[in-house]
Amino acid sequence: MARAHRVAIIGAGPAGLFAAQALTARDDTVEVDIYDRLPTPYGLLRYGVAPDHTGIKRVAETLAAVFESRRVRFIGMVELGRDVTREELCAGYDAVVYALGASADAHLDVAGEELVGSLSAREFVAWYDGHPDAAPVELAGVREAVVVGVGNVAVDVARVLLKPVAELADTDMPDPVLGELDADRVTDVWVVGRRGPRQTAFTAVELRELANLAEVEVTVDGATDEELSDDEGLDRRTRTVVTILREAAARTVTAPRARLHFLFWHRVWRIDGDTEVASVRLERTEPGTDHRLRGTEHYRDLPAQLVLRAIGYRGRRLPGLPFDPVRGVIPNVEGRVTDAHGTVQPGEYVAGWIKRGATGVIGTNKSDAVQTVTHLLTDLAATEPRDLTDVPAQLAARGKQVADFAAWLRVDAAERDRGEAQGRIRTKVATWRELTEVVTVADLDWVI
Ligand code: NAP
Repeated sequence: MARAHRVAIIGAGPAGLFAAQALTARDDTVEVDIYDRLPTPYGLLRYGVAPDHTGIKRVAETLAAVFESRRVRFIGMVELGRDVTREELCAGYDAVVYALGASADAHLDVAGEELVGSLSAREFVAWYDGHPDAAPVELAGVREAVVVGVGNVAVDVARVLLKPVAELADTDMPDPVLGELDADRVTDVWVVGRRGPRQTAFTAVELRELANLAEVEVTVDGATDEELSDDEGLDRRTRTVVTILREAAARTVTAPRARLHFLFWHRVWRIDGDTEVASVRLERTEPGTDHRLRGTEHYRDLPAQLVLRAIGYRGRRLPGLPFDPVRGVIPNVEGRVTDAHGTVQPGEYVAGWIKRGATGVIGTNKSDAVQTVTHLLTDLAATEPRDLTDVPAQLAARGKQVADFAAWLRVDAAERDRGEAQGRIRTKVATWRELTEVVTVADLDWVI
């Protein structure tokens, strides 16, 4: 009898888990090993989705079902390039799916970007979501913040800055984060777009939530009345976004506790301060030729002690793998990895942001994974089986400590216990030291 196919998925975020779900649903013998650098599964659901978006976070509960299959194993604390190579994976599995997301930041490339208080939204999100690699963020003294970019990540970080901490207290945010958010109240947040309200990347639900925060006054500046007018010619999302902005700006808020300013047609010229951010100089922009932006040499300074650039994420180059530096993805055709010349690399696939770039909501990864898995299974059906090595056994022989699903369940239980003691559903275990303490008692029997 032919042996079962073995597939490795690298990255236990939504893309990787949707791929595992599609694989096990379509092939009832396939064996799947899901590797992750962290001892915890769920990737962006755990470390990217905002803590107060509990509905989206609950997708993790659905995805957890994939680990109930005896044919699926979680192998955490294994990093591609550090602990295992591309060649080892290809020798150990019939197919490898890279689902590593987009963990690098886009930069503004302006003077002052390196000042203390100038961060990427990714760093800020990692901090409030309790990622073990995150550096602590100090908000004491931050009264005014500038968020650069007009997409959903900008909405998330602006909302976390503006929400009363009492409304975040029942989330899974680590205690030091809640303490910091409570330490000093931010009074003004500017969300700055280099183009107009009709060119934003917001989705309506997310923008509506931000624009309707209690006791927050909203202003919309830099756009013309025409740009903010109702226009039947606009697509539905854009029309709704413009309506939300217009209505929020028209609303009177008596005795606001904070202000949210949308400022359009401005780009960051430089960030000023000695060692810490003190203000941001913006240049007024206007549409140029060929859909390009043009600077107008009209400048405006905003006082700010925090600048968050929410201008998109990019994939990282992975050791030994082809990479498209322009798009920040592994080159591929519908999920089949190719080299730089477009030649398909047999047995290697991609899913999620490393496949298509950092676009789309969590659910987008489901259909994306199905496309990849469909090609993978078609290719496997047409491929002669070959002898495979045993990668987990190789890791064990090297003394590599891994975290299995039982180890994650211990972290999960520890977080729930901690939360329960405070009347919350969960409080994140947010440092490597604490995580590894919980993980180290992992039962490694199955890898030997
Ligand atoms: P995004 O949607 O691509 O938005 C990036 C924004 O940054 C755009 O407004 C873009 O403006 C601007 N930008 C890019 N380069 C810039 C520069 N040099 N200077 C000034 N502005 C610049 O990216 P994102 O907000 O990081 O979100 C990534 C994906 O995750 C999106 O698909 C988003 O919907 C999704 N997401 C969803 C949720 C949710 O559903 N709750 C939450 C967070 C993220 P231009 O258009 O002018 O380039």
